[in-house]
Amino acid sequence: MTLLDITELKTYYRADDGWVRATDDVSLSIDRGETVGLVGESGSGKTTLAKSIIRLLPDNAEVVDGSIDFDGTEVTELSNRELRKQIRWSEISMIPQNAMNGFDPVYTVGEQIVEVITYHEDTSKAEARERARTLFDDLGVDPDRVDDYPHQFSGGMAQRAMIALALALSPSLVLADEPTTALDVVIQDRILETIKELQEELNSAMIMITHDMSVVSETCDRIAVVYGGRIVEIADAETIIMNPRHPYTLGLRNAFPDISDDDQELISIPGTPPDLVDPDDGCRFAPRCPFAEEECWEVTPEPESYGDGHAVECHRADEIEHLQEEAGKKET
Ligand code: ATP
Repeated sequence: MTLLDITELKTYYRADDGWVRATDDVSLSIDRGETVGLVGESGSGKTTLAKSIIRLLPDNAEVVDGSIDFDGTEVTELSNRELRKQIRWSEISMIPQNAMNGFDPVYTVGEQIVEVITYHEDTSKAEARERARTLFDDLGVDPDRVDDYPHQFSGGMAQRAMIALALALSPSLVLADEPTTALDVVIQDRILETIKELQEELNSAMIMITHDMSVVSETCDRIAVVYGGRIVEIADAETIIMNPRHPYTLGLRNAFPDISDDDQELISIPGTPPDLVDPDDGCRFAPRCPFAEEECWEVTPEPESYGDGHAVECHRADEIEHLQEEAGKKET
């Protein structure tokens, strides 16, 4: 059953030199309990999409078009008060990239979690505090640390505390924005596993934002590949990993290690991400695409369906296997 239905969303930032088209015509639907990965390089618009959903955009951002239907409620039309009361934290929560910035330095972490719980639920402070302690325990943090201030936490602990806050009200949707990039690799795996376990226990849906293909391949049911403010390819995780059709997805896949293969050569994608200030027509990946032809420079590709929810925005997606074979022959 559909929980979130985003249609043709455009979220732009006002900048000195024009509009930054950070989310540009994005449609995405997510079912209850489903985990969808948003993967793409830095600056592709992943965070902007997440912040549009939970309405935490900075002042210079504007949703200029499109709709975000969350369980029958049009999020773009809610007042700030309705949003705080009905949606934020209780129904949709976000684990930000840098948890430390998410906490107020003058209150203990426990006080802040209790505040969020009691604002939304008819629960006593003592009960809310007990819930915070249990969540800390589940996340591998000493429950007594609920009485600490944010600055007393290490990066890893702050991230776990933010996960506790994000899950405290059993939201239907969790937006996890690079939840582990600030942490060291060993802790990363453990935290990802914990998020996944708790999310499954609560049957929350999740959008997992990352630039790391191996993270989404392990944790997500479906993967949406984001480039230049658009979803350029979306499908179930296996299809994206095994049979991608967009040249950018192919590039991303080759830029990340297969954890089971130590000898695999990593090839980064040449070129730089597009400037999103008033971009020209045409495919935004064309300047970096080894297969771009005239049409790609002139006409913006629309999503084409390849069955089973697999959609690709590429003029040459039909030919991708042949193009890859030809490219392989040239290399050898
Ligand atoms: P990262 O992984 O680095 O966070 P991202 O894929 O999440 O990248 P966004 O942070 O959504 O990308 O940024 C998308 C585009 O919007 C980029 O071109 C970025 O420079 C621009 N942008 C982001 N925030 C603002 C802002 N407050 N004002 C103007 N432009 C912005």
